[in-house]
Amino acid sequence: MSQVYNFSAGPAMLPVQVLKQMKGELLEYGSARASVMEISHRGADFMAMAQKSKQDLRDLIGIPDHYKVLFLQGGASTQFSMVPINLLRGKTKANYAHTGHWSKKAIAEGSRYCEINVCTDSSDNKYTDIDAFANWNIDPDGAYLHYTPNETIAGLEFDYVPEVDMPLVADMSSSILSREIDVSKYGVIYAGAQKNIGIAGLTIVIVREDLMGNVIANQPILFDYTTQTNNDSMYNTPSTYSWYVASRVFEWLKQQGGLSAMAKINQTKAKTLYDAIDGSDFYSNPVTIRYRSRMNVPFLLADESLNGLFLEKAAVNNLITLKGHRSVGGMRASIYNAMPQEGINELVNFMKVFEKENV
Ligand SMILES: *Cc1c(COP(=O)(O)O)cnc(C)c1O
Repeated sequence: MSQVYNFSAGPAMLPVQVLKQMKGELLEYGSARASVMEISHRGADFMAMAQKSKQDLRDLIGIPDHYKVLFLQGGASTQFSMVPINLLRGKTKANYAHTGHWSKKAIAEGSRYCEINVCTDSSDNKYTDIDAFANWNIDPDGAYLHYTPNETIAGLEFDYVPEVDMPLVADMSSSILSREIDVSKYGVIYAGAQKNIGIAGLTIVIVREDLMGNVIANQPILFDYTTQTNNDSMYNTPSTYSWYVASRVFEWLKQQGGLSAMAKINQTKAKTLYDAIDGSDFYSNPVTIRYRSRMNVPFLLADESLNGLFLEKAAVNNLITLKGHRSVGGMRASIYNAMPQEGINELVNFMKVFEKENV
């Protein structure tokens, strides 16, 4: 395999070790004498994998016993609906922090179920800053507070967990498993798998037991967390291959030393890249330093007419998918767990050479 560093925001790079395992096990999985894609989710081989992966995830994050772990379909976007359906519990309002593109989408969907109180709004600073928590306008009658710890598009990340007197709900799609998480601070955590867990098609939900069992009437039965917990995430056929890939990623993470080790590695990776951006007038990042994302690093070239050339030359140097989101422009390097420090070093070296050639 040629050594390409893929900075895609998602679906994103997988650890090479996991890709190799997938290749090796593609035709025959364990004792199944068939591919993991071809076997029943209720058979012994798949059930054993599912059990182990759930335990590995519990061990990695340190999930307390009174939280359930679900392996669902539908992506993070389906949780934009499932959260209000399950968590309103008779209330008519909820608090949402609006800090980026994804929280905006969560708000739009939530507003189909209840009155939304936007308790903080970063849209007027183009999602480059977060208002001090003391200034948030939280409605105490809200059923919960929803926020997005890492906004994938603008590269805006919380460096703290909001403390509130109501269930806290977090869309961790682009930051889960990148550092330690104190699950006890949350009511619900959810994440689509295709950024930091594995491949598209799987959504992990971690939900506190006491929040279940009071859903809005007449909603799809699959959208009830209770249906899913009572059936071990197998009320219907789960996304079997995505689940399997996640299980391999969890094993890989354990081998790396778990989330505290990943946090250190990710910290160093991000610092390497932000130092390079800040150390030059050729590149810039507009996000308030404190809230810069360690997972998604957007950067702009001072001369935007060089964007096309930058991307072209980067690709020749095996650095791919660096184009920024159209709403931000410029570049974006997504540097999830699977991106090694070497990939960042290669990118930074390339940026320096490109600057010299084009100032
Ligand atoms: C990618 C992303 C989503 C959307 O995920 P889907 O699985 O495509 O629904 C939602 N929230 C965040 C923070 C994301 O990064």
